[in-house]
Amino acid sequence: MQPWQDSSLDVTRRSFAEFASEHLAGPLETWDQPSGHPERAWRAAAEEGVLGICMPEHLGGQGRSVSHAVAAIEGIGSAVTSTGMLYAIASQLFGVQMPLAMLGSDEVIETVVRPAIQGEVVLAYAFTEEASGSDIFSTEATAVRDGDDWVLTGSKAYITNAPMADVALVFAKTGEGRSPFALTAFVVDMSWPGAAHGRDFEKVGFRSVRMGELIFDGVRVPKSHVVGRAGAGLSVLAESVGWERSAALSALLGPMDRVLGQVVEWTRTRRAYDAPIGSFQQVSARVADLVVRRTMCRLAIYDIAGRLGHGSSTQDHMQDIAATKLFVTESYRQFMLDAMQPFGVRGFLHEHEISQHVRDSLAATVWAGTSESMRNTIAKLAGLPVE
Ligand SMILES: Cc1cc2nc3c(=O)[nH]c(=O)nc-3n(C[C@H](O)[C@H](O)[C@H](O)COP(=O)(O)OP(=O)(O)OC[C@H]3O[C@@H](n4cnc5c(N)ncnc54)[C@H](O)[C@@H]3O)c2cc1C
Repeated sequence: MQPWQDSSLDVTRRSFAEFASEHLAGPLETWDQPSGHPERAWRAAAEEGVLGICMPEHLGGQGRSVSHAVAAIEGIGSAVTSTGMLYAIASQLFGVQMPLAMLGSDEVIETVVRPAIQGEVVLAYAFTEEASGSDIFSTEATAVRDGDDWVLTGSKAYITNAPMADVALVFAKTGEGRSPFALTAFVVDMSWPGAAHGRDFEKVGFRSVRMGELIFDGVRVPKSHVVGRAGAGLSVLAESVGWERSAALSALLGPMDRVLGQVVEWTRTRRAYDAPIGSFQQVSARVADLVVRRTMCRLAIYDIAGRLGHGSSTQDHMQDIAATKLFVTESYRQFMLDAMQPFGVRGFLHEHEISQHVRDSLAATVWAGTSESMRNTIAKLAGLPVE
């Protein structure tokens, strides 16, 4: 039996798909519009428990496995077209809540993680800056100690959910140069003096969630809001992106399921030369390739999800996680490009759903670390002298 065929995962996947078709699809969906965070949909998804499914029960979560959370997100994604919102939910759950539940202070866990699970506060994680992306050590944001507090100054760019974020996990330089202890992670409430939301960026894809800037102008951060300890920012970042590069890939599975169904239906019924186009071998072979890509992505994501869980660090699986991110995101992008072809001209129209999925897929090889960075990590862990 394959990991995703476990019957309890199937029940989870189906129940979240049913919930999403009833409560999220249709009027609540912001169809590919950069019109804002779909707050009602976000709250509805949180009330259904998606942000708590694999979070500890004492925090208001359901304490289920990471694989169940993957199944829930896959289920929602198979029923809605708001892929951007789904990505943001997966990103908050895995990329912020999971590391904070593991590494945050009691105060952060109570005042940030617990309400985030209920959908009462929206989180963002922020390491990218205008001048610093893949190379985290070129971060220009700095924090200096002042008594018991830290004073944070700088700005972060291209942050998912930033315009709506109540709280951000922010990475800043607290040490010199490229020392592995030069970074510290802070949990910053965006209502604190000196913290502000900056500009919005209009994106090509994932348009149902907003992306923006966060600005910190001498923000006083209490020591209880340092994650882990001062100088441990690199390992906090590695944990956060480790989740983004593995379990959060679940946001790509539902769209692949959904699109595959549409392509099969279309190629069975669209006719040319007096035959369904699916009877032409070039078309059926392309559909077979879609099935292969979807199946291998599922295998890879459920395999890695099955190895992650409460208390276990993503750092125990670094090479496999980088390989999963690289393989899944490149396969997903190729899947969407291939899925467009059988629709002919229709797939090139804004009104056709596949055109949105193609745009959504273009940045998958960039977010949470580029394909080049994944190859560097994989080669380095294989023993090569890669910087
Ligand atoms: C949809 C989306 C959502 C995002 N959400 C967030 C978020 O919530 N929070 C956040 O902090 N960031 C977010 N980002 C930003 C993302 O993390 C960065 O785009 C990514 O880390 C790459 O940084 P960069 O874009 O500055 O590219 P750069 O680092 O400037 O790289 C430019 C190019 O050079 C290549 N390159 C760089 N260094 C090397 C090297 N050593 N070897 C080979 N090639 C190299 C890169 O692979 C890339 O192709 C998001 C991005 C996208 C697309």
